[in-house]
Amino acid sequence: MASVDRLAFDQALKPLLGDLEQLYEEMDREYARVAARYGFQCTGCIDNCCLSRFYHYTYSEYIYLRRGFAQLSQQKRAEVRKRAEKYVEALEQRGSQGDDSPFRMMCPLNESGLCILYSRRPMICRLHGLPHELALPGRPKTVFGPGCHEFAEKCGHLPYYPFDRTRFYMCMSELEAGARKILGASQKPKKTVAHMLICDEVERL
Ligand code: SF4
Repeated sequence: MASVDRLAFDQALKPLLGDLEQLYEEMDREYARVAARYGFQCTGCIDNCCLSRFYHYTYSEYIYLRRGFAQLSQQKRAEVRKRAEKYVEALEQRGSQGDDSPFRMMCPLNESGLCILYSRRPMICRLHGLPHELALPGRPKTVFGPGCHEFAEKCGHLPYYPFDRTRFYMCMSELEAGARKILGASQKPKKTVAHMLICDEVERL
């Protein structure tokens, strides 16, 4: 096991986290370009994507998020962790009840509708909302995904404008292979943002 807070500032991971930052910038640019083609702007909505339970499978994003989290004040970290603990508790309770309806609870990093670690948010938070396509190696065909509820309301009548997630997923997968090698981790993590905020140890071989 290794402390995730120590790893967040480990020199061995610095280049990798720099590459992740660049990849995030590319995603943000491409998202903004495609959103502008539709004239779509996310200004918050009832069907807030921060209420969705997303799992993230990347050590690099986990460590990068914790790097940002470590820079918040001690009081803010304590408040956020309390919310994260409640989130994980509610999720586990739901699992034990065998309830398979969609789990809806606000992400512990969201305060008054805004993400307090916006520049550190994971890939899925960055790409969510726009209709997209994905062509992964080994899969027989390109998969198309819809936009979010808000997109459907505002722009659902417009023809599809290509938003290809493939390159982003491929680059992320390469980054992750590098992260797992440095960490000596054999498996993918599976964590919601709440888990990332309260799990302080990364398993290593
Ligand atoms: S990390 Fe930020 S953008 Fe992503 S779900 Fe949480 S609050 Fe929303």
